[in-house]
Amino acid sequence: MDCLFCKIIEREIPAEIVFEDDEVLAFNDINPQAPTHIVIVPKQHIATLNDIEERDLALIGRLQYTAAALAAEKGFAEEGYRVVMNCNEQGGQTVYHIHMHLMGGRRFIWPAG
Ligand code: 5GP
Ligand code: ZN
Repeated sequence: MDCLFCKIIEREIPAEIVFEDDEVLAFNDINPQAPTHIVIVPKQHIATLNDIEERDLALIGRLQYTAAALAAEKGFAEEGYRVVMNCNEQGGQTVYHIHMHLMGGRRFIWPAG
């Protein structure tokens, strides 16, 4: 499948992997928008948030659970951080394999952009 994040999962493209389990992979974003910017992806290919099915709900929860664990590990869980999931073109999605951005280490403004 011609999917960048599937290729990272399959180790066909290198990435700085920071966490992996049976269902999830997390790696540093190649173009970080914060001192820590990690992309968390399910190993299962799901193109957009609109394609999530009821059987995937636990997996989506695992993305957020992983984000919180990584925030704690990086030391900014208490001061705060941001998680973002972009959907389709107007939402800013550029890679069509769902992913959660975990960004921390600086202050974020809201609403953003
Ligand atoms: P999106 O815009 O789809 O929400 O997020 C895609 C993210 O993937 C972007 O933040 C972008 O910097 C990151 N990205 C794109 N290509 C690569 C790559 O080859 N390696 C890594 N580690 N991140 C990538
Ligand atoms: Zn994929």
